[in-house]
Amino acid sequence: MNWPGVASVGGAAGAASFLYYVCAAPSSQILGRALVRGPAAGARVALTFDDGPAQPYTLQILDILRHLKTPATFFVCGKNVERFPQIARRIRSEGHGLGNHTYSHPFLYFKGRAAMAREIDRTQQAIERVTGHRPTLFRPPYGGRWFGLFSVLAERGLRLVQWSTPSHDWKRRVGAADIVRTTLRKLHSGSVVLLHDGREPRRPDQVDARVTVEALPGIIEGARAAGFTFVPIEDFLA
Ligand SMILES: [Zn+2]
Repeated sequence: MNWPGVASVGGAAGAASFLYYVCAAPSSQILGRALVRGPAAGARVALTFDDGPAQPYTLQILDILRHLKTPATFFVCGKNVERFPQIARRIRSEGHGLGNHTYSHPFLYFKGRAAMAREIDRTQQAIERVTGHRPTLFRPPYGGRWFGLFSVLAERGLRLVQWSTPSHDWKRRVGAADIVRTTLRKLHSGSVVLLHDGREPRRPDQVDARVTVEALPGIIEGARAAGFTFVPIEDFLA
């Protein structure tokens, strides 16, 4: 008996889930090489914060990082850099990394090269104008990649950075204790930890990153107690 309809539905579903893996799975390397994690030996981990700068959360996070002498990388949106240039400058002047997280935080799926390049270039220009530093790291919104993205990045000398340890701080109704527990449970040698100092694409008055601020000291102190050392993410690219 022949079931062509069933076969093609199955084929389409298989193709869709493969495409989903290719473009959406943080660890997928099919469209291009991404840094997902650092070396599996050495107990080094790196903190990353996405979607800022945002007031007052980025400032509170910077205070904690300074107090606990911990390096981090901030993947910022160009429009937020334009809104809070003084916070972007402080990130840089306190020695943290600044990466490109697009201008307006769109899904890159189905976008053409020119549209992706506009989002990336506008952000490179905003960061460079405000801090004098031209980023070399890029993280796509939602971790989503699309065809053509990697050639746009290569032309601009940008490396794509994903993550291996999600904190789930973006989820609604999670408390600081949940974020600390989730992050520490998933921490491994070479962890790239994903946290958020902003909440894109929400309006500035809807941004609330209090739980991340509250969780941060517990993450840093818990990781150190378990023997991990925080390093700048550049250490994983060498
Ligand atoms: Zn984001």
